Amino acid sequence: MPQVEEIRKEVDELMPGLVADRRHLHEHPELGFQEFETAEFVRQRLEQLGVEDIRTGIGVTGVTGLITGTKPGPGKNVLVRADMDALPILEENDVEYKSQNPGVMHACGHDAHTAILMGLARYLSDNKDKFSGTVKLCFQPAEELPPGGAQAMIKEGVLNDPPIEAVFGLHMANQEQVGKIIVGSGPVMAAADGYTITISGKGGHGAYPHGCIDPVIVGAQIVVALQTVVSRNTDPMDSAVVSNCVFQSGEAFNVIPDTAVLKGTVRTFKPETRDLMEKRITEIATDIATALGATAKVEYVRGYPPTVNDEAMTELARQAGAAVVGEENVVTRPPAMGAEDFSYFLEEKPGSYFFVGSKNEEKGFVWGHHHPKFDIDEESMGHGLTAMAMGVLTYLED
Ligand SMILES: [Zn+2]
Ligand SMILES: [Zn+2]
Repeated sequence: MPQVEEIRKEVDELMPGLVADRRHLHEHPELGFQEFETAEFVRQRLEQLGVEDIRTGIGVTGVTGLITGTKPGPGKNVLVRADMDALPILEENDVEYKSQNPGVMHACGHDAHTAILMGLARYLSDNKDKFSGTVKLCFQPAEELPPGGAQAMIKEGVLNDPPIEAVFGLHMANQEQVGKIIVGSGPVMAAADGYTITISGKGGHGAYPHGCIDPVIVGAQIVVALQTVVSRNTDPMDSAVVSNCVFQSGEAFNVIPDTAVLKGTVRTFKPETRDLMEKRITEIATDIATALGATAKVEYVRGYPPTVNDEAMTELARQAGAAVVGEENVVTRPPAMGAEDFSYFLEEKPGSYFFVGSKNEEKGFVWGHHHPKFDIDEESMGHGLTAMAMGVLTYLED
C-alpha cells in the first residue's frame, strides 16, 4: 500500500499550482465540444511535464497522455478521466477569478476536475519510481451536452493503445461538506432519457370546440396518464422518474391550437425498466391521442446509461478515501437520479466514480451545482487529488 502521508505532503506542495490552474480555467470557461483553449492549456501543461504520447482533438477537443512507471511490477494500465466543459450560465459570483466569458460558467466544478487531473499528472511525473504500469490521463469534452464527450472519445479508441483495464473518475459534491469523500458500489447515478411528444389536432374558434380536435385536452390527459408508468407499471422496489417538463401549445385565449408539444425526462437504473418506460410512454401517448381523435408522434431519445461502479474498484476508492480523510469521513452514497457520461467508460471497463465534498458554509460555498453562485472550497481539490493518487497507485500495485 502506498504511503498516504508521503502523497499528501507532495500534494500540499502542489496546491498553490492547483488553485491557480483551477482559477485560470474558471475565468476562461468553454461550452461542450468548444473547449479549444482549455484543451490547449492542458496540452501545454502535459508537454511541460514530459508526458508521453500526448494526443489532442479526440472527440473534437479531448486530450490524452500517458505516464509510465519505472518500478518493477504487474504493469497494468489504468485510465483517469476529468471533464473540461462549462455551462451556459451567467456567473453571479463576485470573485477575482469570475468568468471572463459572460454567459458561460464553470458551475459544476469541471474546472476543479481538470486542475486535479493536471495535478495528478505532475505528481505521477515526479514519482515514476513509485509505480509500475501506465496511467492514461483523459481530459474529456462535453459531459454536460448529450450525447457527450465520453462516448465520442471511446469511439475514437481512448480505451485501447495501451489496452485499459480499469477506470477512475471523480466529481466535486457541493451537497457534502469539504473533508468528506463519497463512494458507492453498483448503480450510483441513473440513465437519463428524453422524450418529445408532438400532438396534432385541429385548431379553430374557442367558442366552437365541436368543430375542432383540441390538442391541449389531449396533452393534458397524456401528462396525467404518463404518471401511471411509474406508479402502476414499475415495480415499487425499483426506482424510476418520469417528469414532463415542457407543455407548449396555443397563443390566444380564444383560439384552439392545431398542435401541442410535450417534453420530459426519464430516469431509470435497470435496462428492463428503461425499455418499459419507452414502451409505455409511446403506447400511452399514441393511444390516448387516437382515442380522442388526434395523433401523437413520440420521439424517445436514449441519453447516458446508468453509472454503475464496480465493487472491487469501489472498495479501492473507499480505502483510498479513508486513508485521506479518515474512515469516519467516508460517506456511502445511495443511488441518485442525476446522470453522468462517465457511465460509458464504466460500461466498458471496471471502475469507480467517487465524489469529493466541496461545501463550506463558513466560507459561503453553499450553492448547488448548476447555480449561478456555485463555487467550491478549493481545499477539496487536495483531498480529491490525494485520494485519486492513492487509488491509482494501489490499483497498479496489486
Ligand atoms: Zn453538471
Ligand atoms: Zn458535473
